[in-house]
Amino acid sequence: MKAAVVQALGQPLVIEERPDPVPGPGQVLIRVEASGLCHTDIHAAQGDWPVKPVPPFIPGHEGVGIVEGLGTGVTHLSVGQRVAVPWLGYACGRCEHCLSGWETLCEQQQNTGYSVDGGYAEKMLADADFAQVVPDGIDPRDAAPLTCAGVTTYKALKVAGVAPSQLVAISGVGGLGHLAVQYAKIAGATVAAIDVTDEKLELARELGADIVIDARTEDPAKVLREHGGAHSAVALAVNEEAFAAVYGGLRRGGKLVMVALPAGGTIRVPIFDTVLNGTSVIGSIVGTRQDLDEVFRLHAAGRTRVIYQTRPLDSVNESIADVLRGDVEARIVFEM
Ligand code: NAD
Ligand code: ZN
Ligand code: ZN
Repeated sequence: MKAAVVQALGQPLVIEERPDPVPGPGQVLIRVEASGLCHTDIHAAQGDWPVKPVPPFIPGHEGVGIVEGLGTGVTHLSVGQRVAVPWLGYACGRCEHCLSGWETLCEQQQNTGYSVDGGYAEKMLADADFAQVVPDGIDPRDAAPLTCAGVTTYKALKVAGVAPSQLVAISGVGGLGHLAVQYAKIAGATVAAIDVTDEKLELARELGADIVIDARTEDPAKVLREHGGAHSAVALAVNEEAFAAVYGGLRRGGKLVMVALPAGGTIRVPIFDTVLNGTSVIGSIVGTRQDLDEVFRLHAAGRTRVIYQTRPLDSVNESIADVLRGDVEARIVFEM
């Protein structure tokens, strides 16, 4: 099989021929049809975060494809079914987090395309319990971005506790943000979308944003405060200053939901303001299998639109460069 491999952190990926993997007990072998390029894959390949992946590894946690082989003990999936393989590749199912509906916090989790090989390949393995069935009628190229960008922003808005009367700021209208705008609208909120390119701001408007803020020329905090302040802000831009900007635009009792993971990112949170204003600052990491199921159902019901462009896997390095330049409509999806 063909795969795009990180041979060394910070180096271009290498297209390799590898033997097809063989499913072990509890695993499935998947013929990948479509695989999204999440900005997380770029952080992985560059070794941006404190916990680093160990090369060589195959990135990708938006892989969607057809089950082609079953390991021993797999009874609930069958050959020919379409499944998606998200970031949460395994969780123990027994710890306090797993048992309380927070499997995404499991300390024994495996992460697809990070601690185990991912979807930048013609074939991949997945733990059968974490390979999510894609409902009939969903195009695999739509399902791919939903598998991380979709579930992550859907969950972030749950964490924000968005209600119909509220103003929600979506900072960064990229792969994640273009879906966040739609989930916030579905929740009934008034949406302020923030970005730094004309194309992304135009896209936000098309997807239903009520207010668009160009962070190149406007101060997002000031604009949000002019609208009474945001009840919540979801930070999706890979930029520390963008976190601080939306923090400053929250109203009293507001919530900053941190999602993006800029390398070495820190923000200074003023204690006095946070205490007096009753502000919450919360992290949100992907979503559970239940969240992904809800994301797929919404899409199958025609409630969301996934904006993507398809490319061959061979374009992986130029595709990464395009995402870093912000020169992509929303998501790149590799077609295998
Ligand atoms: P992306 O590159 O597609 O989108 C980022 C967007 O931010 C772009 O539209 C860009 O133009 C915009 N932007 C850049 N600077 C800005 C600024 N100053 N103000 C406003 N917007 C600005 O990336 P993505 O795939 O959407 O991922 C975003 C981040 O989320 C990454 O750091 C990724 O690792 C992280 N992520 C986190 C989780 C999680 O579970 N917490 C899951 C997936 C991705
Ligand atoms: Zn992702
Ligand atoms: Zn667990």
